[in-house]
Amino acid sequence: MEEKPRRLDPATDRAAAAQLLDCLPDEVGYCPRCQGLTHRYGHGAQIICAACRAAEAAPPA
Ligand SMILES: [Zn+2]
Repeated sequence: MEEKPRRLDPATDRAAAAQLLDCLPDEVGYCPRCQGLTHRYGHGAQIICAACRAAEAAPPA
């Protein structure tokens, strides 16, 4: 089974979140849908977090 991307809790340390997201701490921001942390700014930004995008691509049956 494929592992679904997990939402990053907004309480997550920014440096740790940046490592998980493979971006800089300054580029970490809140997803407008779930308020989880995502690579929000800068090059290759993904405003909608991975968890929300996965939910959109494969809605629950
Ligand atoms: Zn989200």
